Amino acid sequence: MKRITILVPAYNEEAVLYKLYDRLKEVIKSVSAYQFEILFVNDGSKDHTLSIIKKMRERDKRISYVNLSRNYGKEIAMLAGLDHAKGDGVIIIDADLQDPPELIPEMIKYWEMGYDDVYAKRRSRTGETWFKKWSSSTFYKLLQKMSRIPIQENTGDFRLLDRRCVEALKQIREAQRYTKGMFSWIGYNKKEILFDRDPRAAGETKWNYSRLMDLAIEGVTSFTTTPLRLSAFCGFIISFFSFFYIIWIIAKTLLFGEPVAGYPSLMTVVLFLGGIQLISLGIIGEYLGRIFNETKNRPLYFVDEYNNEKALNQDRPVHELNKFARHLNRGRA
Ligand code: UDP
Ligand code: MG
Repeated sequence: MKRITILVPAYNEEAVLYKLYDRLKEVIKSVSAYQFEILFVNDGSKDHTLSIIKKMRERDKRISYVNLSRNYGKEIAMLAGLDHAKGDGVIIIDADLQDPPELIPEMIKYWEMGYDDVYAKRRSRTGETWFKKWSSSTFYKLLQKMSRIPIQENTGDFRLLDRRCVEALKQIREAQRYTKGMFSWIGYNKKEILFDRDPRAAGETKWNYSRLMDLAIEGVTSFTTTPLRLSAFCGFIISFFSFFYIIWIIAKTLLFGEPVAGYPSLMTVVLFLGGIQLISLGIIGEYLGRIFNETKNRPLYFVDEYNNEKALNQDRPVHELNKFARHLNRGRA
């Protein structure tokens, strides 16, 4: 029997967990040909999320959980989930029921047809402001223009991944993660299905504009170096025209003299160039910051507890480290 893991990253989701469980249970019942695991990743919630998950696990052993040592953010929480998932396929779903679990059977259907990544694309986005819709669509257009891999618009993390996609994603251990880009980057057979995204069932969104801005910068700096090239390009164009301008100024002064004046034009040019330089420096800084963070090479997360067991401080499940150790020993023998 094939195993499917339903992976739910959860941060302060006490208000929706039971509702989510009820709906998942119904769906699971309707696809009885599989063995299901519901894997919660508690991302350092400050409410009763963990105790609710533990209570649910006592009643239903299909539920397992990873409790992270603090709040690491959804991207890392998803990776922790992928590291611990046991299924042949893994379905990533939000805890707040914005991703309807009823789509799961259709995903499985396409998975059985041989697709490796069946992702749900939003047909509509109810419960979101026009500004959020507009900013998100412009961002994707820009990102698409700048990077060579196709990035899926209006698509969240709600998808079914085959084991080989999961193994691929687990190998990408960047600290500053933009998972949405990674799904595209790894390739494999993709299939899109459409759905209408509901507003949050209860609780509050954890995203505000400053966090979305962070994610957007992450998205750009982790998938394309075009901004670096653009700033170099700008510099080049400006130097090119400046060169002729300088020659003209020199010639003019030599021929006609210079009765001073020129404060406004001088000021404009200085300010303009100063601005361009600062922007370019900022862009270089963003990439430098990324290099700094990645070279530290820290573990991406620490697990506090996995299914009632206190975990050691490592960011990979024990069974995997053992496998690695065996692999090394085999090399030695
Ligand atoms: N989430 C998480 N860690 C965080 C923030 C969010 O694991 O630091 C989870 C959250 O519990 C939910 C999912 O990520 O399951 C999506 O979060 P949210 O609904 O707040 O985002 P939105 O749907 O508004 O984009
Ligand atoms: Mg949500």
